[in-house]
Amino acid sequence: MFDDVLRELERLEQGVEISIEVPLDEKGFLDRQCPSKPCQHQFKVLFDDWTDKVPDESAFCPLCGHTDHPHEMSTPAQEEYIHDVGLQHVSGIIDKALVSDAQRHNRKERARPKNGLIDISMSMEFKPGAPIIAVPPDAAESLRQEFACDSCQCHWSSLGASYFCPACGHNSAPSAFNTTLTTVRDFIHTFPALQRTLEEAAGPDSAETTLRQLAEDQFGRIVGAFERYSAALFSELPNASAFPAKGNVFQRIPDASALWKAAVGKGYDDVLTSAEVAALTRFVQQRHVLGHQQGIVDDKYIAKSGDTNYCAGQRLVIRPQHVIELIDVVEKLAASIRAALP
Ligand SMILES: [Zn+2]
Ligand SMILES: [Zn+2]
Repeated sequence: MFDDVLRELERLEQGVEISIEVPLDEKGFLDRQCPSKPCQHQFKVLFDDWTDKVPDESAFCPLCGHTDHPHEMSTPAQEEYIHDVGLQHVSGIIDKALVSDAQRHNRKERARPKNGLIDISMSMEFKPGAPIIAVPPDAAESLRQEFACDSCQCHWSSLGASYFCPACGHNSAPSAFNTTLTTVRDFIHTFPALQRTLEEAAGPDSAETTLRQLAEDQFGRIVGAFERYSAALFSELPNASAFPAKGNVFQRIPDASALWKAAVGKGYDDVLTSAEVAALTRFVQQRHVLGHQQGIVDDKYIAKSGDTNYCAGQRLVIRPQHVIELIDVVEKLAASIRAALP
């Protein structure tokens, strides 16, 4: 009686391929979302790169680096749409099979010779329900910040900082470093506005303390990013293995400078003025004092930094312009190191 339905169900069991068109934004980017629970970062990948550069088995979240099957990177709206298209397809097939089964059964019944006084006959009626209509989700608005992978040239966009290429997972130390410098510089420039907002919300004392703390925190971010950038660049030198980088060598300015000089023939004093080397040394020592001594100066700091503005026992004062000075010197040094590479 249900021959067609059974046949279609068997075919569906084998799996069917349905092509689904998901809308792109006006720049041709496809909306994606990280499936990792704590992250859920929304980003976009140029559709041509998503199909050509992202491998069939894995894609990466540009924010947290989580790797998963590319199908898992759909947004909830896309998931719903894909689900509805599948349901629409299957219910269409089954409805058609039920109608044709019913029609065939009824034709047979009508043609059957009637037998005697009691003759039981049965007819089938089937009316398909309301059709399922899958509505494609609108693509989210284009994002301003676009990125291109140094390694595989995949293009993606993201709201805010981004670290990993969605196609190959490459995390470029130079671009992460530049992102950190830009982020911190932009952040420092918001301080006057931030001060007004904080004063309104929490009063002038709290605003002043918060801003001081925020400025101090940036020292750690910049020095940390520079250290990582230096280590990544150094490890790429063809002769890197001949110069084992001991401990946190890139935190120690004289040692790091000597290491570069030995490896590429140029130290920090070859690319910076002596005033810049002195400032960098002082800032890196200040970062150490902020990170490990609650900002309280000791004799070791004075000896290592050559900073005579303080006596042992005093507390460091970090102003927003000190953060900008640190960014400037670190930026110049990073560019010079890159230029000195073979
Ligand atoms: Zn993520
Ligand atoms: Zn890549």
